[in-house]
Amino acid sequence: MSVVGIDFGSLHSKIGVARHRGIDIITNEVSNRATPSLVSFGPKQRALGESAKTQEISNFRNTVGSLKRLLGRTLHDVEIQQVEKGFTHVNLLDVDGSVGAQVNYLGEPTAFSATQLVGMYLGRLRDIAMKELKIGVSDVVIAIPGWYTDVQRRALLNAAAIAGLNPLRLIPDHTAVAFGYGITKSDLPDPENPRHVVFVDIGHSSMSVAVVAFSKGQLTVKSTAYDTHLGGRDIDYALVRHFAEEFKTKYKIDVLSNPKATFRLYSATEKLKKILSANAEAPLSVESIMNDVDASSRLTREQYEQLIVDLLDRIPAPLQRALEESGLSIEQIDAIELVGGSTRVPAVRAKIQSVFPSKPLSTTLNQDEACARGSTFACATLSPVFRVRDFAIHDIAVNPIKVSWEKSLADEEEDTELIVFPRGNGIPSTKVLTFYRKAPFDVEAVYAEPSGLPGSINPWIGRLTVKEVGPSPTGDYSTVRVKARLNLHGILSFEAVYTEEIEEKEEMQVDGESTEPPKKKKVVKKNAVPYVAGYGGLDSSVVDKYREKELTMHANDKLVQDTEERKNALEEYIYDMRSKLEDRYAPFVQPQERDALLAELSKNEDWLYSEEGEDATKSAYVSRFDAAKKLGDPITTRWREAEERPRAAAQLRETI
Ligand code: ATP
Ligand code: MG
Repeated sequence: MSVVGIDFGSLHSKIGVARHRGIDIITNEVSNRATPSLVSFGPKQRALGESAKTQEISNFRNTVGSLKRLLGRTLHDVEIQQVEKGFTHVNLLDVDGSVGAQVNYLGEPTAFSATQLVGMYLGRLRDIAMKELKIGVSDVVIAIPGWYTDVQRRALLNAAAIAGLNPLRLIPDHTAVAFGYGITKSDLPDPENPRHVVFVDIGHSSMSVAVVAFSKGQLTVKSTAYDTHLGGRDIDYALVRHFAEEFKTKYKIDVLSNPKATFRLYSATEKLKKILSANAEAPLSVESIMNDVDASSRLTREQYEQLIVDLLDRIPAPLQRALEESGLSIEQIDAIELVGGSTRVPAVRAKIQSVFPSKPLSTTLNQDEACARGSTFACATLSPVFRVRDFAIHDIAVNPIKVSWEKSLADEEEDTELIVFPRGNGIPSTKVLTFYRKAPFDVEAVYAEPSGLPGSINPWIGRLTVKEVGPSPTGDYSTVRVKARLNLHGILSFEAVYTEEIEEKEEMQVDGESTEPPKKKKVVKKNAVPYVAGYGGLDSSVVDKYREKELTMHANDKLVQDTEERKNALEEYIYDMRSKLEDRYAPFVQPQERDALLAELSKNEDWLYSEEGEDATKSAYVSRFDAAKKLGDPITTRWREAEERPRAAAQLRETI
């Protein structure tokens, strides 16, 4: 069984695996430790991760990024319309009530929902992990933004199911980082006097802050705060706008009107931004940006900080909110740990520092990989495969959840709603709600503060319909209990409905001669009540359908890749044999044998460069390869035997 942790980032994702000697962040097919969070579609196949990155510019209309931002949203969400549209050139559309992308796939316009797209991407991460571990991968822990709501978390679980993955936990990324921090520390204090650490993560698209208390064997998240639109991509966008404006007058070109030019400018500004993290000034140059113009410019650190001043000014607010909600003073904070790529920007650090003037900022964690590492530790803890030392996570809910119901006739004064899981409620958590009813009824769960949710996310979470409730045996109101659970993923579900009857039972007499009357004992008898519950996210039948589709697309990609490999093998064989026939095989070949093989090779070469051979089936390449090899193998064998004979003789001498 595999133990895998995934940091699903908006720019790229990192994968950790647990092995007996510890946790490793693994590399992908091109030896990168981070895999671009991109999926791309072509006339013959999909390209996922790294291979999508290579065609991001040439195939921009069919390459989808921002997967993490699209997931669980509707097309008309203000954040999709006003923000995400600005970061993609793909046509976004509605797919079954959620946002999706329209792309050209296998020569046809095809619509995929964001859930499917994330499923494809997670499938690629699974393949990378499988290749590394050489076993099947199913159990994972996936890190998510702490601000993901119920519907976004459900969408991620659906996507994971489409990829054939089994998430043991969706963990907020700051909690994963905190877990990785705590579990490796052997010097944590007693619970009366915990160590308080503020984790600040500024990545590509969002900022999160968590104040966490650590003591021996446990961590407790005390508060969290977010700016869901503050990250490296916003910095990049500010720089792109600046240079686009400059180039309008300098070169009379409008970069933003041309998607390819915009991409080129983005990649140049990203480089410039990174140089400016370590230098006072940096050059920018983009060859042939558009209209044959080679664009160049420079920027000083001061100018740069001026361009992003609005973003920088937003950094203190979430830090102050988190600190305030934790109830701690700055003096009580023991450390401030920075993670996420954008905390490398000196001005970003200065802003964070301004909130904690007396405290040093530390980067003892690997800024890029701490989240994947922590997620992998969390997976190891939940998996039976490894023994991990006990380290408890006390996490908290971000958005308060209430349930509401219709008044029953019993009580005019009865409330019709209740906050079941307030902000800061522990995760996981189960609560039992009590209703007095004589008839079936409905209960609805919603987020209690819709204004606190990202974008236009619908506060609705789920609905429970309790069936077959009647009066109690005495004709009174039945006591109906409903179990509501906020599970390990931070998702709400109704888990059980039952009525309670109190029965009096006579206790068995042990001593037959007692004169006391038999004692009566009250026993609560629970009777399950049938119910149905509906939530956001996809029906399991739809997930199954998408899983099937995914398997078909995956098989197709594999076939295309295998075909390409067989074609290359045939081509390589032709050139390899030709050169060897001139060289090492020459003494071992009869003239007619040689001519026959050369003729076969030439025939195949001509075919490979013909229209038919350019794009043939896998079996066509395989059968041509086999036929050629049949002629070549006797020659190869003769040469090998001749090579091995002196070696064998030498060995024989040695043994005698
Ligand atoms: P998110 O957590 O927001 O979903 P992510 O996890 O994909 O995003 P990270 O890998 O933490 O993001 O950070 C990527 C961002 O950090 C990018 O915008 C990148 O340009 C930026 N970045 C990386 N290195 C540097 C650097 N040296 N200076 C400035 N910015 C940097
Ligand atoms: Mg991140």
